[in-house]
Amino acid sequence: MIGIESDEFSTFLKGCAKAPDKIREVLHCGAANLCSELGVDLGDKHLFSDLGNLSFRSGQKGFDQITNGIVELLEDGTRLLILGGDHAITYPVLKGFHEKFGKLSVLHFDAHADLYDEFDGTRLSHACPFARIMEENLATDLLQVGIRTLNDHQKQQAERFNVRMIEAREFNREVDFGLSGPLYISLDLDVLDPAFAPGISHHEPGGLSVRDVIDVIQKIDVPIVGADIVEYNPKRDLFDMTAMVAAKFVKELAGKMI
Ligand code: MN
Ligand code: MN
Repeated sequence: MIGIESDEFSTFLKGCAKAPDKIREVLHCGAANLCSELGVDLGDKHLFSDLGNLSFRSGQKGFDQITNGIVELLEDGTRLLILGGDHAITYPVLKGFHEKFGKLSVLHFDAHADLYDEFDGTRLSHACPFARIMEENLATDLLQVGIRTLNDHQKQQAERFNVRMIEAREFNREVDFGLSGPLYISLDLDVLDPAFAPGISHHEPGGLSVRDVIDVIQKIDVPIVGADIVEYNPKRDLFDMTAMVAAKFVKELAGKMI
């Protein structure tokens, strides 16, 4: 597991840069053990290690450093779980995975499609990563789940890039996602209904439950080579409850990847 403390390209609110350390704090606070529901114990040092936070500068240079850092970490065949940061980081991160694996399938949980060509004057915004990823052919197949904010521009972008989508209004846990491997999972916590995860910047009611997302993760039957958990904003949280949701996803995602 590695943290990327970046919220440089967030719109509306900052705060996600503080997420990795807060998620760690809650993961190790003693309120729960480190076992995934399927019985993988992240307390086992042979299975799981926390590599701390990646260091990088700002702007495009910083993104290049993130990509290079990911390439280095993947060199020995390690599977990586990344703690964001806002969703902008998924673009430089997937660039790194692409160097190692070639094309990947990507499963993207989010309230938002994040397919804007540009947003607030930048093409690196956290509203844009999947436009960059598809333009640069970093994913063979992109499946977006839980979307509930599509506008005309993003619908056109989804068509242009052949994005598969299961919107929140059509989601049910029994849907066959038709996933292939190797798979990368990008989990934006605002896919959840704000009732489950208030500690995010963009509250979008009508979302999935924590159970919905865990059930989908547990049913995946292709190799998962990487994942990220992004958009946790400690400044918006109540009683660390969203940090605990993120920590739960650390256990379920890492447990599934091991
Ligand atoms: Mn997002
Ligand atoms: Mn989102």
